[in-house]
Amino acid sequence: MKASRFFVSTLKEAPADAEVASHRLMMRAGMIKKVGTGIYTYMPMGLRVIRKVEAIVREEMDRAGAIEMTMPVVQPAELWQEAGRFDKMGPELLRIKDRHDRDFVIQPTSEEVVTDIARQEIRSYKQLPKNFYQIQTKFRDERRPRFGLMRGREFTMKDAYSFDRDLDAAKASYQNMAQAYRNIFDRFGLRYRAVAADSGAIGGDLSEEFQVIAATGEDAIVYCPDSTYAANMEKAEALAPAGPRPAAVNALEKTPTPGKSTCADVAELLGVPLATTIKSLVLATDIVDDAGNIKGAQIWLLLLRGDHDMNEIKVSKVPGLDKGFRFATTAEIDEHFGCKPGYLGPLNLKKPVKLVADREAAVLADWITGANEVDFHMTGVNWGRDLPEPDLVADLRNVVAGDASPDGKGVLAIERGIEVGHVFVLGTKYSKAMNATYLDEGGKPQFLEMGCYGIGITRLPAAAIEQNHDERGIIWPDALAPFTVVVCPIGMDRSPEVKVAAEALYEELLAKGVDVLLDDRGERPGAMFADWELIGVPHRVVISDRGLKEGQLEYQGRRDTAATKVPAAGIADFIAGKL
Ligand code: ATP
Ligand code: MG
Ligand code: MG
Ligand code: MG
Repeated sequence: MKASRFFVSTLKEAPADAEVASHRLMMRAGMIKKVGTGIYTYMPMGLRVIRKVEAIVREEMDRAGAIEMTMPVVQPAELWQEAGRFDKMGPELLRIKDRHDRDFVIQPTSEEVVTDIARQEIRSYKQLPKNFYQIQTKFRDERRPRFGLMRGREFTMKDAYSFDRDLDAAKASYQNMAQAYRNIFDRFGLRYRAVAADSGAIGGDLSEEFQVIAATGEDAIVYCPDSTYAANMEKAEALAPAGPRPAAVNALEKTPTPGKSTCADVAELLGVPLATTIKSLVLATDIVDDAGNIKGAQIWLLLLRGDHDMNEIKVSKVPGLDKGFRFATTAEIDEHFGCKPGYLGPLNLKKPVKLVADREAAVLADWITGANEVDFHMTGVNWGRDLPEPDLVADLRNVVAGDASPDGKGVLAIERGIEVGHVFVLGTKYSKAMNATYLDEGGKPQFLEMGCYGIGITRLPAAAIEQNHDERGIIWPDALAPFTVVVCPIGMDRSPEVKVAAEALYEELLAKGVDVLLDDRGERPGAMFADWELIGVPHRVVISDRGLKEGQLEYQGRRDTAATKVPAAGIADFIAGKL
C-alpha cells in the first residue's frame, strides 16, 4: 500500500470523552470515528486491524473443525419468544418493529437462530458433532457504552455454537474450542489468562473467560501465582459460602470500635467469611450546618460482595445520592482509616464508621438512600476509577494475601483483565426450549447438547492497545498491526535516488509477502515519524540521501530506543528476519 492512495488521518488531541488509552489512541490514529453513543465507523486504518483479528480467528476456527456461516442481524421475535429470551432479557436486547407491527430483535448473540437451523438440519447422530460459527455484527444496548470499541453497542463478535449427542461429547467440543482459543490468543501476542467463570446451571469447569491483562480492565481476576488456579471475581466469590443475609443486614446498624477494627473484625461483625469482604467503596457525606456551610465529613466504608460499579453509584441511579454523598477525598480517608482510597487490608479505624455488606446491591442502595425503589443493576467491577491514586491492584494484593485458594495450593492475588473471549457449555437449555432433537442409534429422539463460544473481534484491538502503548502511541503486536512495516523515505520528491531505493524496497518486501506501506506523502520526517508511531506500525525503515551515500538504511522497531544502521543491500532480508 502507498500512503498517498490510502487514508491516513491523525489527530493531535483526543476527544474529551475518551477516558482510556485505547479509546484515545484509536481516535487519534484515525482508526475509528464516533457516529453515536457506542456506535462507530471502523475507518480504513482501523478496519485493517479488525480484518487481521478476523483472519486469525477464522483460520483457527476452521482448523478446529468449526464451519462458517452467517446468520441475520435482524431476527424475528418468534424464535426468541420460543426460547424465552424475548421476555427474559432486559433492555440490553434491542427490540424493533417492522411496518406490519411485527416484533424483531437485533442479535446480541444467535443461539435461537442456530438452534432453529440445527433442529431442521440435524436429524441423526451420524451428523454429530457439528460446530457452526459466524463473524457478525452484534448489538447490545449496553447500560454504559464506553471506552470506544471496548464496550460498544454495535460491535463485531465471532460466535460459535457446538451441537453434540451427549454431555461428554459436548465437553470434548468445549475443550476443543478452549484449545482453539488458546491458539488464537497466543497468535495475537498478548498477555492473557483463561479464568474459570460461572457456568450457571451446568456447573463445573465448563465456562472460561479469556482475559487480556490490563490495569484498565473492567473485570477483576483472582489467581494463584503458585498454581494454575484462576477465576473471575464472581466465580471466586461463589466458592466462598454466602454469609447469612439477615445477620449482614442487621449488622448495618452496628459500628465497630474505633481504633481496633481489622478486616477480620469487620467480617465477623457482618457474619461473612473474610475472603468475601474484598470489595469496597468509600463514600463521604458532608456535614452541613443550617446555613449550608460544610462543617465536616462523615465517611462511609461499604464492603460489597456482589458486582458493583462505582460510577453508577456516584452518578445517577441511586436516587438521593446527589443530595449528600460524594467520594471521600484521600485526606479524609487517610484521616479515618489511615490508608489510601480503595485500600482493603486490615483497617485501623481512627474514627467510627458505619459498615454495610450484602450481596444484594439493592439493600445497599436502600441503605444509602432510604429509598425503596431502586434501579440498581450493578455489573462490572470498577474499583475506584473515580478515586485518586487508583493503584488498587497492588492494594488488593494485600487483602487476598493470606487467603487460601480454592485448590489449597497457595495464596491468591488479583489483577485486572479485559474479557475478550468466553467459552461455555450450554447443555440442553435451548434445545429443550426449542425442541431441537436428533435420532440416536435406536431411532429415539434426544435433545442436542450445546456449547457457545464468543470472541470480541472489535474489543480485541482495544484490549491490545491497553496492554501495548507508550506516550507516543500504539505499539501493535505484529499480528494485529494495520501495516507490519512502514518505509519512510526522506525527501522523496527531491531525491531520485531516495525515490528509486524506496520503491525498490517496497516492491521487494511486497514480493516477500510483507504487509508494507510506503509513505510517499512527502511529509516532513518529524510529522511522518510521529504519525507512524501514533498508529503503531511495529517496524520502520528510513531511507535518506545521506544514508544511501554510505550504503546504509535505518531500521527501528517500535519499541527500540534508537535506530540501527543496516546495509542497504541486505535490508529486505533483515526485515524478513524480524518478522
Ligand atoms: P461483558 O462482561 O464485557 O459485558 P459479556 O460477558 O456480556 O461481556 P459475552 O456474552 O460473553 O459478553 O460475549 C462474548 C464476547 O463478546 C465477550 O467475551 C466480549 O469479548 C465481547 N463483547 C461483549 N460485549 C461487548 C461490547 N459491548 N462491545 C464489544 N465487545 C463485546
Ligand atoms: Mg455484557
Ligand atoms: Mg462478562
Ligand atoms: Mg461473557
